[in-house]
Amino acid sequence: MIEHDIKNLSEDALAGWFDRHNIAVYRASQVLRWIYHRSICSFSQMTDLSKDLRRLLSGEFTISRLDPVRIQASEDGSKKYLFLLEDGHHIESVLIPERRHWTLCVSSQVGCAMGCKFCLTGRGGFVRNLEPAEIVNQVCAVQNDLTHPNLLTNIVFMGMGEPLANYDSVVKALVIITSSNGLQFSSRRVTLSTAGLVPRIDDLGQDVTVNLAVSLNAADNKTRDVLMPINQTYPIEMLLSACRGFPLPSRRMITFEYVLIHGVNDRPKDAKKLVGLLRPLRAKINLIPFNPFEGSTFKRPEEATILAFQKVLTDHHYTAMIRQSKGGDIGAACGQLRFATDNSQRTL
Ligand code: SAH
Ligand code: SF4
Repeated sequence: MIEHDIKNLSEDALAGWFDRHNIAVYRASQVLRWIYHRSICSFSQMTDLSKDLRRLLSGEFTISRLDPVRIQASEDGSKKYLFLLEDGHHIESVLIPERRHWTLCVSSQVGCAMGCKFCLTGRGGFVRNLEPAEIVNQVCAVQNDLTHPNLLTNIVFMGMGEPLANYDSVVKALVIITSSNGLQFSSRRVTLSTAGLVPRIDDLGQDVTVNLAVSLNAADNKTRDVLMPINQTYPIEMLLSACRGFPLPSRRMITFEYVLIHGVNDRPKDAKKLVGLLRPLRAKINLIPFNPFEGSTFKRPEEATILAFQKVLTDHHYTAMIRQSKGGDIGAACGQLRFATDNSQRTL
């Protein structure tokens, strides 16, 4: 008999399995609550199910978990978790401290096929998509590591990979993360970031409620074509038109991420172009000064240049935050995640 990881299944799929076995479907919710609310990883511990049902489930399903093989702590309070997957690949998740809560940045793929020039993950190429369970288990593992798991309230899909290039698994994981029998995160506190896979942005808006972040990173196609090759397929106009069509609950906005790179996209005239582009949208902007990595020729702009860029945006009444990436000292900052790891860094 083939065993399936139950954490790869949606609630509907599991309920369907129960139904086909002539078992009351509410049992599916019961099983999921053991797994996601109480972190139980063995059917034998599900004491409100009959022994026969527990045996049947154990014969059919496994309950996977991920344990970090390394946790690194940054001086700024962020933590990077390294996970070893069953096939020997590694992924990383980054836990970021906010004032009153934690945000977890999860990976959706091993590597990334998008090839953005400023991104270390992109430079390493693509290895494979993550299964829904491998995405969800990053959250479960970090919750288990925290003394106060409830303080982990926000999830961002901004780790390794392009989430919309792994659409089906990411949507399944989003549903598990936000559903009441799953991990119960508020959908207001879950954000998916994309490099701009336009057809999938349309699908996402139909399929789930989640915050959208778009890595724009340039205000004209010439620059964006070079920085982000996906722009050659889905140029800025198509991307922003998909953003206009994205269903936004009241008072919510789309976040546009803009990595500021010295001499490439950081001039005041770039900021003015950006203002023009975003005008028809409910948008806020995260400015991320480029995080350098070995082998990259790009540089981070001077502080004054960053502030001048921000001022153009705020003068036009945009919320524009400068995101000083956390975890630079442990290779956990935006765009520094990778799947080939070295052992030279401090380990907890
Ligand atoms: N693939 C998705 C999700 C990953 S998010 C996406 O690109 O949106 C990674 C974020 O980090 C993106 O906003 C990207 O623009 C940013 N980033 C990548 N490399 C960076 C670097 N070297 N310095 C600063 N930000 C970077
Ligand atoms: Fe992939 Fe995002 Fe990095 Fe581009 S910025 S290579 S899409 S992870």
